[in-house]
Amino acid sequence: MAVKIVAGNWKMNLNRGEAQALVSEITGMLSDEVTHPVKVILFPANIYIGAIVQLTSSDHRIAIGAQNCSNKESGAFTGEVSAAMLKSIGCHYVLIGHSERRAYFGETNTLLSEKIDLAIKHLLHPVYCIGELLEDRNNKKHFDVIQNQLTEGIFHLDATAFEKCIIAYEPVWAIGTGLTASAEQAQEMHAYIRQLIEKKYGGIIAENTTILYGGSCNDQNAKELFGLKDVDGGLIGGASLKSRSFVNIIKSLP
Ligand code: PEP
Repeated sequence: MAVKIVAGNWKMNLNRGEAQALVSEITGMLSDEVTHPVKVILFPANIYIGAIVQLTSSDHRIAIGAQNCSNKESGAFTGEVSAAMLKSIGCHYVLIGHSERRAYFGETNTLLSEKIDLAIKHLLHPVYCIGELLEDRNNKKHFDVIQNQLTEGIFHLDATAFEKCIIAYEPVWAIGTGLTASAEQAQEMHAYIRQLIEKKYGGIIAENTTILYGGSCNDQNAKELFGLKDVDGGLIGGASLKSRSFVNIIKSLP
């Protein structure tokens, strides 16, 4: 069975004090209100990762990830942060291919496949983000887009490496817009993704792969989304910046 996860993508938000306050509110609420085992991943800005790893070290339910890493191993790439550097400061996960990276920084599936390789090499778990534009969906191309993002970005991995990865399905038209995929749309696409994984890696790996939903997920709709057969939790943007809503979303995990 796939591990259920709620992940918070803070994007380029919060100053140091705000980030620390948010973490201590989340850890406090988790220890007061959530007794069952849950898995939570926080994705703060890189400069806070070291401090937040320290702040969360006593709660084994929380792991820390980065929002991006370089597609280069090391060297003269000013401003970049490598997978090895992230690993060395206690980071365990890395988002690869978030739609904002694809849209604003021109990241292609091929480039993302290089990042995934380096993340795996340095023992980080990639969270590979895929999702179609509204235009793709309106033109009934959404399944093709998803198949292509998987084929070109991650299906080059062998089974052992693929098992280290998490997939996040985030329809681009739902990110930060307040428009959420309907339960039918989410389940249909998650089942399709799992089917493609099964075709490539077999039934056991497909069943065990965590496939997160992302896109305007909040404490009002999380329960319905997380209750769907092929949805294994969520990647949360806006609603992860408020401790109350984020912890309520965590509590929506079945
Ligand atoms: C995201 O950016 O990964 C995301 C899901 O954002 P939001 O929840 O704000 O739509």
